[in-house]
Amino acid sequence: MTPDNRDLYRLVYYSRNRIEGPDDVVSREIAAILEISQLNNTADEITGALIFNSGIFAQVLEGRRDVLEQGFERIQRDPRHSDVHVLFFFPVPERAFPNWSMAFIGRSRRGQNLFAHLGDKTGFEEARMQGERLFSIMREIAIDEELIEA
Ligand code: FAD
Repeated sequence: MTPDNRDLYRLVYYSRNRIEGPDDVVSREIAAILEISQLNNTADEITGALIFNSGIFAQVLEGRRDVLEQGFERIQRDPRHSDVHVLFFFPVPERAFPNWSMAFIGRSRRGQNLFAHLGDKTGFEEARMQGERLFSIMREIAIDEELIEA
């Protein structure tokens, strides 16, 4: 483990979207979320990925435990989503999204299908196992969309 990776944690959660309105309004809000995320996360050395469909957000956040906890406190209070369920919060040996302060994944039809299918099938039960599954699907989508390497 490099010194950078000491105390490295990964947090995976999903939440219910509370952004209402036509597609262009929703798209603008998502763009605003990504912009502030990329700014704050760069400063905090947090990396990760966000995926969204009309009903659900899922996000992977990676960083130092204390910084991650502080950032997540802020994220949880955001009224643009609710019912935040943490599925995974454990130390990890390395970052899965090292070059992304916040990658927005799931732009492709295949990505959206994979994400939708996961929610339907599992209902996101059994927190840890599903956290690992959600993480690996998000990683697969990012690889498929050529945002990260296998
Ligand atoms: P300020 O910008 O000062 O806002 C104050 C409050 O208003 C906060 O509670 C904020 O959440 C809320 N707010 C801000 N803009 C709006 C709006 N347009 N509509 C309604 N409420 C609003 N931030 C990160 O830094 N990193 C992330 O990785 C990250 N991921 C996110 C993922 C999701 C799914 C969502 C919904 C938000 C995410 N955010 C992320 C944004 C985060 O919740 C904060 O809005 C942001 O960090 C700014 O925090 P602040 O305390 O400076 O809030």
